[in-house]
Amino acid sequence: MPQQPLAQVPTDATWYWSDHGSCREADPLLFFHPQNERGSARKRRERAAKVICMQCPVRMECADYAVRAREPYGVWGGLSEEDRERIYSRLDVRQYPRRRGEGARAAAAEIAEAISPQALGLAR
Ligand code: SF4
Repeated sequence: MPQQPLAQVPTDATWYWSDHGSCREADPLLFFHPQNERGSARKRRERAAKVICMQCPVRMECADYAVRAREPYGVWGGLSEEDRERIYSRLDVRQYPRRRGEGARAAAAEIAEAISPQALGLAR
C-alpha cells in the first residue's frame, strides 16, 4: 500500500480564516525566507513575522492548519519552519493530527511558546 505523504492539505481544510489574517496587510516577504538566508537575518525576519502573528485574530486556525498540513515553508500562526520541525519530529506519524483542531491541540505548548515575550526577545 502506498504511504500517505506527510505534507499534504488536510481534506477538511478551509480558508475563510485567512481573510482575517493580520498578514494580509503585511509584506509577504516577511513570512517566507529568501534563498540562502541564514543566521541573524533569518531570526530578525521571523521575529518580525511572529510579532504580526501575535496580534492576529485567526492565529490558532492558522497554526492548526500548518501543523495538520505539515507546511514545510514560512511562518504560520507564529510558528517558524524550525518551530514546526520540532513539532513534526515529536508527533507520531502513524497517528498524525489531520482533523480540524487536532493540530492546535497536539502542538498547544509550541504554539504558545512561539510568540511568548521570551521567544520574541521582549522579556528574559
Ligand atoms: S497567524 Fe500569522 S501567518 Fe497566520 S494568518 Fe495570522 S498573521 Fe498570517
